[in-house]
Amino acid sequence: MLYINGEWRDSFSGDTIEILNPATGVKLSEVASCGREETREAIEKAHEAFQTWKQTTGLERAQLLKKVADLLRENGEEIAKTITKEMGKPITEARREIISGSNYVEWFAEEAKRIYGETIPAPSFDKHLMLIQQPIGVVGAITPWNYPLSMVTRKIAPALAAGCTVVLKPAPSTPLTAIKVFECFHQAGFPKGVVNLVIGPAEEIGAELTSNPLVRKITFTGSTAVGKKLIRDSADTVKKFSMELGGHAPFIVIADANVDAAVDGAISTKFVNNGQTCICTNRIYVAEEIAEEFGKKLAVKTSQLTVGNGLNESTQVGPLINEQALNKVESHVKDAIDHNGEILCGGERLEFPNLKGCFYKPTVINHAKETMKIAKEETFGPVVPIFTFKTEEEVINKANDTHYGLAAYCYTTDLGRGLRMMRELDYGIVGINDPAPIVTQSPFGGLKESGIGKEGGKQGIQEYLEKKFVSILIE
Ligand code: NAP
Repeated sequence: MLYINGEWRDSFSGDTIEILNPATGVKLSEVASCGREETREAIEKAHEAFQTWKQTTGLERAQLLKKVADLLRENGEEIAKTITKEMGKPITEARREIISGSNYVEWFAEEAKRIYGETIPAPSFDKHLMLIQQPIGVVGAITPWNYPLSMVTRKIAPALAAGCTVVLKPAPSTPLTAIKVFECFHQAGFPKGVVNLVIGPAEEIGAELTSNPLVRKITFTGSTAVGKKLIRDSADTVKKFSMELGGHAPFIVIADANVDAAVDGAISTKFVNNGQTCICTNRIYVAEEIAEEFGKKLAVKTSQLTVGNGLNESTQVGPLINEQALNKVESHVKDAIDHNGEILCGGERLEFPNLKGCFYKPTVINHAKETMKIAKEETFGPVVPIFTFKTEEEVINKANDTHYGLAAYCYTTDLGRGLRMMRELDYGIVGINDPAPIVTQSPFGGLKESGIGKEGGKQGIQEYLEKKFVSILIE
């Protein structure tokens, strides 16, 4: 179903898309699929709604957003099951996504009350200078399938808190979660047109969102290639952007590191969401002296991970999202083997009698080389290569030798070294001995071709506010 101007409806054409469970291959549902016309209508309704929504107080917006956070939590178990069924992640991870997704809504509800301006010292006594902050206007939001709840709330909540209105296009493989989120917005009593949901072909919806002058901002999470296209397509209407794009995270283990902690950190940063997370470790760099010990321990623990249908409470790794994702994983592994990489564990598909999903064994590749595809490209799957290094300078250069700059990790027991790595790694997020450097109150975002702007933290709401300078001449 589409949600436009406060109403649930079908598309004009009556077209639908099928939603499949990636673990079983079974059809879950069919949802309406729309194109440019419905998207244009949603934008126009969002623009109409903006004229009154921008006049609400932060307190009013906060109250409505808090209701949404409560509703997401009340319906948490049902939404978690929807996430697992439509994109495959383990139910335990889906429950964590409910917590983080609803926490973003609550956080930005609070931030709605804290949109301050500034007074600026004037050059003469007869002038009063101010900077005021106002909502940007209609926001076009485009989200991926890998975090179908939290990627949506991390965009919509700050936009609404700032006083903007929104048209969201979720990934076509995971619209059921987006529909559940919109049910919460509907139930919370948001005015008509303030939040709108369009589902359908990316090219058509994207073309309208990027070219329509009423859309003043595009907020996007997805691949760098699509992000670049959206920037190009928006040039004629000069929109603002938030871009959360691809990553290629290095995971560095210095010789003085606690090896067991580093192994556990590597497992959780690599295999969370089956490697389908933008901040997943994609390259491990281990000091030569400890490489053998680290590799052996990592392979043992990786091969103990339980793979299966995400609805089973014991599953730690689910299926990949689709055949295309599986093919990419296989091509990276084949290429690594062709370059004399050694498979320490995994390295093949996994079949289950009653499941038709795209399962792949969690895989560790030893003796990785810079010439391998996996050294340069985001795998977005359960495969990790181990490279070795001799000096700190060498590993910093290797870690930074990419156009990506989202997240990096470093394990060391030397505080001074940790601080040097923090300064030298060209990444928007750095975890020192910390495999989970993301919290609601932290600014999340990448450098270089990994993105523009920040989501979360006190910075998140700023992305949806314009700054206006006012100069008053006092008579
Ligand atoms: P994707 O192919 O770029 O798709 C992301 C979203 O953009 C989907 O809704 C997709 O719809 C849509 N899209 C594609 N082409 C479009 C167009 N021309 N106009 C409008 N929308 C368009 O990425 P993905 O495979 O879903 O997600 C994986 C990527 O996202 C990885 O690179 C990952 O690193 C990145 N990611 C980044 C972050 C971050 O915070 N930095 C977080 C999560 C994921 P269709 O599916 O219909 O094409």
